[in-house]
Amino acid sequence: MLKFLSPAPLHDPTASSTAATEVKTATCYMCACRCGIRVHLRDGQVRYIDGNPAHPINQGVICAKGSSGIMKQVSPARLTQPLLRKAGAERGDAEFEPISWDRAFDIVTERLQKIRSTDPKKFALFTGRDQMQALTGLFARQFGTPNYAAHGGFCSVNMAAGMIYTIGGSFWEFGGPDLDHAKLFVMIGTAEDHHSNPMKIALSKFKRKGGRFISINPVRTGYSAIADEWIPIKPGTDGALFMALLHELIGSGLIDRPFLQRFTNAPQLVVLDQGEREGLFAFDPAAGPPGDGRNPHNKLAWDLASGRAVQAYPEGLQEGRQLALEGHYRLPDGTSVAPAFQLLRERVALNTPEWAAEITGIPADRIRQLARELGETALHQAFELPIPWIDAWGQRHESTRARPVAFHAMRGLAAHSNGFQTVRALAILMSLLGTIDAPGGFRHKAPYPRHIVPNYRAFNDPKMVKPNTPLNAAPLGFPASPDELAINDDGTPLRIDHAFSWEHPLAAHGLMHNVITNAVRGDPYTIDTLLIFMANMAWNSTMNTMEVRSKLNERGADGNYKIPFLVVCDAFQSEMVAFADLVLPDTTYLERHDVMSMLDRPISEYDGPVDSVRVPVVEPMGQCKPFQEVLIELASRLKFPAFTHEDGSRKFKDYPDFIVNYQAQPGVGFLMGWRGKDGTEQLRGEPNPRQWEMYAKNNCVFQYHLPQDQQYMRNWNRAYLDFAKDKGWRQKNDPVQLAIYSDTLQSFRLAAQGKTQGRQPPEALRERIATYFDPLPFWYAPLENGCVDTEAYPLSAITQRPMAMYHSWDSQNAWLRQIHSHNYLHVNPVTAQAAGVADGGWCWVTSAWGRVRCMVRYSDAVEPGTVWTWNAIGKGSGAWQLEAGADESRKGFLLNHLITEELPFAGGQISNSDPVTGQAGWYDVRVNIQPADPEEAEQTYPQVAPMRDLPGVLGGAKKVVAYFVNRKS
Ligand code: SF4
Repeated sequence: MLKFLSPAPLHDPTASSTAATEVKTATCYMCACRCGIRVHLRDGQVRYIDGNPAHPINQGVICAKGSSGIMKQVSPARLTQPLLRKAGAERGDAEFEPISWDRAFDIVTERLQKIRSTDPKKFALFTGRDQMQALTGLFARQFGTPNYAAHGGFCSVNMAAGMIYTIGGSFWEFGGPDLDHAKLFVMIGTAEDHHSNPMKIALSKFKRKGGRFISINPVRTGYSAIADEWIPIKPGTDGALFMALLHELIGSGLIDRPFLQRFTNAPQLVVLDQGEREGLFAFDPAAGPPGDGRNPHNKLAWDLASGRAVQAYPEGLQEGRQLALEGHYRLPDGTSVAPAFQLLRERVALNTPEWAAEITGIPADRIRQLARELGETALHQAFELPIPWIDAWGQRHESTRARPVAFHAMRGLAAHSNGFQTVRALAILMSLLGTIDAPGGFRHKAPYPRHIVPNYRAFNDPKMVKPNTPLNAAPLGFPASPDELAINDDGTPLRIDHAFSWEHPLAAHGLMHNVITNAVRGDPYTIDTLLIFMANMAWNSTMNTMEVRSKLNERGADGNYKIPFLVVCDAFQSEMVAFADLVLPDTTYLERHDVMSMLDRPISEYDGPVDSVRVPVVEPMGQCKPFQEVLIELASRLKFPAFTHEDGSRKFKDYPDFIVNYQAQPGVGFLMGWRGKDGTEQLRGEPNPRQWEMYAKNNCVFQYHLPQDQQYMRNWNRAYLDFAKDKGWRQKNDPVQLAIYSDTLQSFRLAAQGKTQGRQPPEALRERIATYFDPLPFWYAPLENGCVDTEAYPLSAITQRPMAMYHSWDSQNAWLRQIHSHNYLHVNPVTAQAAGVADGGWCWVTSAWGRVRCMVRYSDAVEPGTVWTWNAIGKGSGAWQLEAGADESRKGFLLNHLITEELPFAGGQISNSDPVTGQAGWYDVRVNIQPADPEEAEQTYPQVAPMRDLPGVLGGAKKVVAYFVNRKS
């Protein structure tokens, strides 16, 4: 097993070809696309990885990362045994003693038992880019702590929340562009790695068929480099572009009016009079309580045919009605109202292309032309697919209309403090063109679309945080009104990260990036144990990195650490591991069971749900144990109700057993393939004891193709809505009207304005809520701009993940390090020369919050006002088993050192995040550049003390490199 440590070559190409060879299928996890792979083994050792041609996601295609999985397997940075910080050693010094798993479990169990039986919120569980949130979330819920989230608050929650609150679905794992039918594809704010193989396959077909591809991005790399046209844009201004496009499309009438009337809330009447109902939808008292985000059905629209208000639906959709999209009206009781679309029209009236040109840097004429191109392609090049379908109100549509304009967007829009409203604007733009779940437009992936607002409340009852008691709701969800905020009676946050508080009400993915700062400050309370899984919080998964590192070591007056106990589970010797009190060695993706489940993040395709698994293709190295197994073991030892029988005995032998037998509701488990006792059922059915075996025999993937008449228009598709409810993917089979206007946002704004009787925000936050919870989209400058001198820091600085690496996962990968071992700051020559910085020279990059020294590379592929670099190439010295002085630490740098995790606010501080969702605003940072003094050391700044080798770490970097350049010494 540890053959790698021996002096013998890892692999001898001259060895006999008669050695036992074997090919096993698995699911890649070198990035989050989760392609199907074939792992070729000889004598039980991984020798080669290629794409699985029989897999629906990648159809045999593999990328550089995927094929380099073999080097992850033998990475010198691999941890192989549990470690305990040595008595007397400081956190961060990485001085550990190896311990057994028994002892590790005893330590954690004893600690967690004590917390759970006294004050469960003193335990916090935060995870990185894992794919098992249904399990980690269940663990936190059963423990009884609200303090749980994954990495989404740092990644792209603005994208998820902005779109889900508008169209019921989002890009990435939840939906995407239908390039099979599109004629125009606009990609905006997307790094090269997001949607890797699937996007490349789709783009290649799209371009071959003559599709037109426009990329809007501050940087012309990756996908932008193969676009037919690159439109550079200033970071954080995408929302202004969308507002101007809305202005143009509405002004020129290039919008899908029938679609808006039938499938969105555009015709629904908004109350204009001041008071408690101001800005909410008018309703018919005779038809029950007012509609709201959760129960949207009692709303009115104005019927031009009869000249009166009618129920928006189903009455408003009857034959002969003509629902008004424009105008101002008066209800019989005198209430003044206007259709939501009228208010949108008024909102964008001043957002002219000239206005947007000033903000975005895109010429006004180009914006006009883009609007025309979008509108004309969607409307004039529309075509019909011969697929009849029946909508939620019983109307049969003889065919399915294609709207062949597709968009794709990701973190470039999301990671700004104005990202939520920007993403709302994009989703509304897509809706006005009628592209939602239409052929050629945006298409959902099951289990999406969700309701608007999804029927998943986040835990919000302070009284339910009780000893030895599971929470009565999952820690994460989607609030529909102030009543669903996770706050105490005095309005203070219930959670350690302040998610779902008045600071960040719609924080659907939590705020991982604020946990350490808040916990150390005791805001709103101190915690006892922080369990971090696969998140590099001491380096690239945090802003203001050096400060956060020092906070991990901060002690109170009693001499104890302010975060008393820190457990880190990781497969590799990351920077974070050095700060752990207890290290739990995880496995690689080739060594464990895993599921890509419909209960959290499946790999569904547009034409139906897909889930997949990993089954171990090799034994775990050393004493590595999958985190999944750790959770099942702890849940059983702690006697969580969902994991134990009444007599206290464990329900599940191990993780595979849990996956087969756990049911979220009768017949609905983690996996939907080969269900039923004999494996003959699918989607829903009794547990099947042989389910893993059946997945393993079938390429580790289960795919279900929906009938054609359920593949489109699923927000309103009767057959699909019924089917999805029956299969447990949705709680209701109601249609999902698109939220052009958000009464959910308005309910928060009314509270902030003191116009409602219920919960109201603290005084200091009233104006913030009233401003940013606008029911209509708007653009505002990133919040950092209001806190710094933008003339002193004239440049926007952003990062991208490189195509060949995923986060910091691959810094230890011998093959991928040959592609990127260090990074430059890429600067337009005009900017660099004006600052006196030479191509290849060293410079200081300074923000209001810190500075880094790095090397500059001239680039015409970036506008003069923007600088950029790769994310997470720079490393702490010695981390990831890189030699002290390796390129990654000497020449590589991390932009996060320049980014603050908090901004000044109301005499104090507040998270540097979107005020709606809590998404980290880490693409907002403003900088200047100056040449470094020639006398200065030619190495990046800041440097950290080299991390020492951990006991049991695999090591052997030199051997890997030497062997693979064919020097066997
Ligand atoms: S795109 Fe991602 S999942 Fe697919 S092969 Fe590459 S690294 Fe693996």
